[in-house]
Amino acid sequence: MIIKSLKLNKKIILIIIFFIISLSIILFVSFANNNENDKKENDFIKWVDFNVSSEALDLTAKLDIDSHNKDTPIKYNWIELLSYLACKNGGDFKNFKKSDLDSLVSKLENGETMESLSKDFKNYNYYYESYSAVLSQFIGYDSNEQYGVKAFLPIAKNYSFSHYDDFGKSRSYGFQRTHLGNDLMGSIGTPIIAVESGTIEHLGWNQFGGWRIGIRSFDGKRYYYYAHLRKNHPYVTGLSEGDTVEAGDVIGYLGMTGYSIKENVNNVNVPHLHFGIQLIFDESQVDSPNEIWIDVYNIVEFLKCNRSEVYISNQETQDYSRK
Ligand SMILES: [Zn+2]
Repeated sequence: MIIKSLKLNKKIILIIIFFIISLSIILFVSFANNNENDKKENDFIKWVDFNVSSEALDLTAKLDIDSHNKDTPIKYNWIELLSYLACKNGGDFKNFKKSDLDSLVSKLENGETMESLSKDFKNYNYYYESYSAVLSQFIGYDSNEQYGVKAFLPIAKNYSFSHYDDFGKSRSYGFQRTHLGNDLMGSIGTPIIAVESGTIEHLGWNQFGGWRIGIRSFDGKRYYYYAHLRKNHPYVTGLSEGDTVEAGDVIGYLGMTGYSIKENVNNVNVPHLHFGIQLIFDESQVDSPNEIWIDVYNIVEFLKCNRSEVYISNQETQDYSRK
């Protein structure tokens, strides 16, 4: 009798052990799966230091555009060229040497492919994705089927301006902040141009930016910020949030509004356009401490090659339009 019950107990214990092991396996697998999902959800770029020099932008853009317009056998993609160069110089274009680009070009002309040349660079995909987020809509076919630079300088053609690389400098209005853009000094009323096509996400007063306009690119990855627009007549008449604009359109006028809770106040010392670009890889980065604003100084330098010509299109409102 005792032996029999021991045998039965053994059976029960075995069954319990079996259940515990199965349960642990199920729990472990579901935990690992969850982790994998979390990883995928968070698998987007968190930070970009955009320091590609205007020289590197000019040279690679020329290779890209010429190879398409002259229909040469090898078509260059400036973003690929820049990503390769970034791997070579550790992502710091202060070390950019034209000879690095020349040797890359001769390798490609001798039949090597970008795929084989970049396969040993572990950061190539990171640079490619970050630089694409910045530059992918800057070169391509425009509405007239012409291949070239299709983004515009934010200051209209024939209007002078000056700027220097003031990204990251400190600003003291309100509280200590760093400067997340580039200030383009010019005269009040200078027509401001949409750099890229997109949808107007914000239009109105902001304590820091004054009359400002925020435009999101159609692919959602870039938010263009134009601030301190003119007192009384900041925007082209009729423009409102939700409207779409085309690269090269006049959107507003340079001014000195801002640094005030009260609307329509000129509290900025020197008339200028504050121009900024924010990169968005995931919507969680919008309006968060994780915003990615890039240094646009070299982009502004590069865009001097493509300016939008304007004229007074409405005598009554004194509004300008692109030619
Ligand atoms: Zn500024």
